[in-house]
This record gives sequence, C-alpha cells and structure tokens, in this order.
Amino acid sequence: MKVAFLGLGAIGAPMAAHFSKSHELVVWNRTPERLREFAALHACTAASTPKEAVKGADAVLTCLPASAQVEEILQGDNGMMAGFSPGGILIDCTSGDPDTSRRIAQRLAEVDVAFADSPVSGGVRAAEAGTLTVMVGADARTYERAVPVLQCFASKIEHMGPVGAGHAIKSVNNALFASSVITFAEGMVGLVKDGINAHQAVDVLNNSSGRSRFSEVLVPAQVLSGKFAPSFRLTLMEKDVSIALDFLKQQGVVPLVLQRTGEALRELHNALGDNADFLEIVKYFERQVGVEIRG
Ligand code: NDP
Repeated sequence: MKVAFLGLGAIGAPMAAHFSKSHELVVWNRTPERLREFAALHACTAASTPKEAVKGADAVLTCLPASAQVEEILQGDNGMMAGFSPGGILIDCTSGDPDTSRRIAQRLAEVDVAFADSPVSGGVRAAEAGTLTVMVGADARTYERAVPVLQCFASKIEHMGPVGAGHAIKSVNNALFASSVITFAEGMVGLVKDGINAHQAVDVLNNSSGRSRFSEVLVPAQVLSGKFAPSFRLTLMEKDVSIALDFLKQQGVVPLVLQRTGEALRELHNALGDNADFLEIVKYFERQVGVEIRG
C-alpha cells in the first residue's frame, strides 16, 4: 500500500515512521529541514507539496496542530485537493474540531474521497511503541478501510460515531487531562510547601481517589525525576480545551470547572510563552511557592 503522511511534528514523526517499515511511504512537512531530517532516517520519499504527497496514495494521513491547518493544506494549486484521486481516503489524526471536520468531509465527498477524523491518544512514547489509542469518527465503510492503516501505530481503535465524533471525545479527554495536570500541580506544591515528602505524597495519591494517569505515569517519570522531557505543547492543550468547551456548549452544557480550565490555560500560555511544554505548568506552580516536586 502507498501511504502519504503529512505533518512530521512531535507525534506525527514517530507515527509516520511505522509506515516506512511496512509500506511505501511518502511524507510532507511544511518546514523542509524537518522533512529532510525524517527522510534521512527512514525509508520514504519526501514530497515538496501536499499535492505531490497525496498523488497516487492509497491512504493519506494528516497530523497537524488543528483542523484549520488541515483545511489550509487542502486548498490551492499545491494543496491536497489538487492531488487526490476519486476513491481515496483522508485519515486525519490531528486533534481537530468536529465542525471543521464535517465541512472537510463534505468537500471531500464531492470528489469521492472518504474522510475519517482519527485523533490519537497516548503521547509520543505510545506513538513510538505503536500502541496509540485512536478515536474514529466516520461512516462504517470508511472506518473499515481506516482500521488496517491505523493498526500500524495503534493498539486500540474505536469507532465513536459519524465524522466529528472522534474529535469530540478527544477534546473532552484532553480537557479532563488538562484539569488533572493543573489541579495536581496546585495541590502538590501546597503539600510540599508544608514539608510533606513529594515522593511519599505522590505514592499515597496514586493509591487514593485523587490519582490520574498524569499522577501515575508522567509524574514519576518526568516530574519526580526532574526530567521534564518536552512532548506536548501547552498551546495544543489550550486548543483542545477550547474545542471541548465549544462542543459542550453546543450540547447545552454550562461547564463550570472546564470553563475555568480553559481560562487557566490561557493565563499559563501568556505567562509561559508559545513554545512551552505542558509540563511547564508544574514548574509555574513550583516557582509560585518556591518548592520543587522531586524525589
Ligand atoms: P507539533 O507542534 O510538534 O507539530 C505540528 C506539525 O504541524 C508540524 O509538522 C508542523 O510543521 C505542522 N504545521 C503547523 N502549522 C502548519 C501549517 N499552517 N501548515 C502546515 N503544517 C503545519 O505538534 P504535535 O506533533 O505534538 O501534534 C500534532 C497533533 O497531534 C495536534 O493536533 C496535537 O494536539 C495532537 N496530539 C499530540 C500529542 C503529543 O503528545 N505531542 C498527543 C496526542 C495528540 P513545521 O515543522 O513546519 O512546524
């Protein structure tokens, strides 16, 4: 199978790398240095435009910051629309938004190209290991076509409903995750400031009802260890919460806590800058009271 992968960012690159081992792979990335870097390490062809990348591909995957960028690379003389053939499929692994995806799907349907929103969860480590979770929004036939492609980097693939459903659950998942990161940081710096041992506190929380995936997996590996390896930009987290808030409001929900989570992320983004990793949230609260959560 000939696979095209567009967007070789922090998570896109390790996802794309899996196809280089088992399929004919064509890649495209906006910044050419990143494209060259990837092509030097993996068996693939580097395309110079989205149009060139998707030409003749049996499956096309995108992994960009948001749906707006997916829509952007669809259009223009060198866009994906100019390269698609009838019968093609676009599997969008961006954590995007349901409304834009429905618009994209409709546009693609007019030229007989199928669309599946297929955002992923599990982070860069799971992308490297090929054990991502994928939440798919598509019609049943498109879902069936997407599964063998997604299996190259995922160990759990769920059909959530029609186009948009994958993005809806992904945004809610990330809003819950964002809340757990912020509340963990706030609570823990208070405990450490009071003189409680950080390692012991995390251990107790992880055996109690306040635990989360963040406290169980990422805190020991990245925070207590002091590693803070960047993997997921704070601005992407902020974007996900904003998508979740729009989605929830459309359902008639008046979010109290998640609304505040969105505002808090905006404040943190302003304080920490555009390039901050989400783990910087922990350091922000550490600085606030002059302690470190290590041990
Ligand atoms: P990065 O910021 O690392 O990479 C973004 C990618 O999108 C790069 O390839 C970048 O190209 C490209 N890009 C940005 N703007 C444009 C544009 N206007 N036109 C074309 N290409 C563009 O993001 P991630 O790889 O971390 O995330 C990608 C998606 O996956 C996001 O939706 C994110 O929310 C989601 N995600 C990320 C996870 C993670 O752990 N990192 C986990 C789960 C989901 P360039 O090299 O030119 O900047």
